[in-house]
Amino acid sequence: MLDKSRLRIAMQKSGRLSTDTQQLLEHCGIKINLQQQRLLAFAENMPIDIMRVRDDDIPGLVMDGVVDLGIIGENVLEEELLNRRAQGEDPHYYMLRRLDFGGCRLSLALPLDEPFTGPECLRGKRIATSYPHLLKQYLDKLGVNFKSCLLNGSVEVAPRAGLADAICDLVSTGATLEANGLREVEVIYRSKACLIQSNIELPPAKQALIDKLMVRIQGVIQARE
Ligand code: ATP
Ligand code: ZN
Repeated sequence: MLDKSRLRIAMQKSGRLSTDTQQLLEHCGIKINLQQQRLLAFAENMPIDIMRVRDDDIPGLVMDGVVDLGIIGENVLEEELLNRRAQGEDPHYYMLRRLDFGGCRLSLALPLDEPFTGPECLRGKRIATSYPHLLKQYLDKLGVNFKSCLLNGSVEVAPRAGLADAICDLVSTGATLEANGLREVEVIYRSKACLIQSNIELPPAKQALIDKLMVRIQGVIQARE
């Protein structure tokens, strides 16, 4: 049985945020053994349980109050927020702090030989992305209608495969785009990892532990600046 008195933190199980997240928690003094392939890991020295899941599941787990804290890319958080709002929900959470890792940008990219003079060039075009809500929010503001093609992976091959005219995907160096004959034409969202808390009221002891962790996180991040 799960012990509700223990603080529950969701982190990405394996991916680009995992190592940095694990390091941050360790530097905060949380002793935990993440070697095992388990969904839940228990801290040895504090009343904390770590839930290791796909990053996409983290915003929902926090918004639904299944976990108390989550460490997640702002891109995924914002997309889930817009997704839930589009479904008529009114999700809530607290943004505790932006973290100093997980930096990336969500950008529009076009085949190298396609001209681009501005987002209006995309009017009526089909754009492949894993972030349909962030993309729509951006292009709606500019009054650019488009068709989206939802892909959860291999977005960068969509134009070559004839699935889309352009893509909207995460970029860090641009090497993947280049390898697929694409060029970045516009950044639509800049993201970093962040720490969020469920808005469900917690017992004082749990909230006190979060406050203590926040002070430690502040110290860890300041020390590396
Ligand atoms: P999961 O299996 O957990 O669903 P994933 O494949 O969706 O993982 P990753 O590629 O591990 O996700 O990326 C997780 C997060 O890392 C991204 O949502 C983003 O916030 C951040 N990130 C940082 N740099 C990059 C990058 N170069 N490309 C993609 N994501 C990046
Ligand atoms: Zn994911």
